[in-house]
Amino acid sequence: MSDGEFDIIARYFDRHVAREDVLLGIGDDAAVLSLPANRRLVIAMDTLVDGVHFPKGTAAADIGYRALAVNLSDLAAMGAQPEWMTLSLCAPVSDPAWFDGFSRGLFELADRYQVALVGGDTVKGPLAVTVQIAGTVEADRWLTRAGARPGDLLFVSGVPGEAAAGLAVIQGSLPVTSATRHLRQRFLRPEPRVSLGRCLRNMATAAMDVSDGLLTDLDKLAGASGCGARIDVDALPLSSALLDTFARDACIDYALAGGDDYELLFTIPPQRVVELPSDVACTQIGVMTEREVQCWRDGNPFVPRRRGYDHFDM
Ligand SMILES: [Mg+2]
Repeated sequence: MSDGEFDIIARYFDRHVAREDVLLGIGDDAAVLSLPANRRLVIAMDTLVDGVHFPKGTAAADIGYRALAVNLSDLAAMGAQPEWMTLSLCAPVSDPAWFDGFSRGLFELADRYQVALVGGDTVKGPLAVTVQIAGTVEADRWLTRAGARPGDLLFVSGVPGEAAAGLAVIQGSLPVTSATRHLRQRFLRPEPRVSLGRCLRNMATAAMDVSDGLLTDLDKLAGASGCGARIDVDALPLSSALLDTFARDACIDYALAGGDDYELLFTIPPQRVVELPSDVACTQIGVMTEREVQCWRDGNPFVPRRRGYDHFDM
């Protein structure tokens, strides 16, 4: 470890952690954590690369926030409670203002969910951030993509499509309005649905988070469950921010294929719908079927312009 790296960690990332389960945090060769009895460890990891997962020039605080948000979203999809994280940060220069902004964005979200940063690594190189998140879930109560059955109702939280529309706003030359500002924030600051995921572990048959696009992610959920799905395009929740900024067909395209939403896509048996929590807007957008993922609009089969984003399909 170089002095520079030591200074960066000490100054920006080594914080007192008020968690009794962190027996040893940053500063030794590894962290030591105390695991709660009767719970299972759930871990996930996501990497964000400059110019690939966020536009070049994105504010450091937004990158820090987003790096954790996308990981929290994965734990939410499992019904898990986030607890600890590690961070690998590759940055081109030791710019104090950048590290200050990055750590502020990261800890803004970490503090909200009481997630402790317990270790990591900083290296010099092209900008890329990897967060590994660890959480816990009650024994035998985690959610997967694999439990949906034909007849289950298909739900999505929030407004899918706003984040992709927000990216288009950032990369385009649209006028600044309250609508375009809202969409931009939805890309930069996704809201991980942790509390919804915790509720769903008692009622959903399958769940995942929408990162690559609603349709392509639904393909994965349906495939894992061995069934199909029918999406009612007319039921998609389109916000006024979307409709004020883009034509309806473009909004539908963003909703079905946009990606970066970090909303939860989940299935529940019809009789459990009444148990859905009311603090997060969830919309029924379809139903699970025997086979094939199909879209319907105005009572007819509908062929979407595209299905989603594939990182290696360039
Ligand atoms: Mg995911």
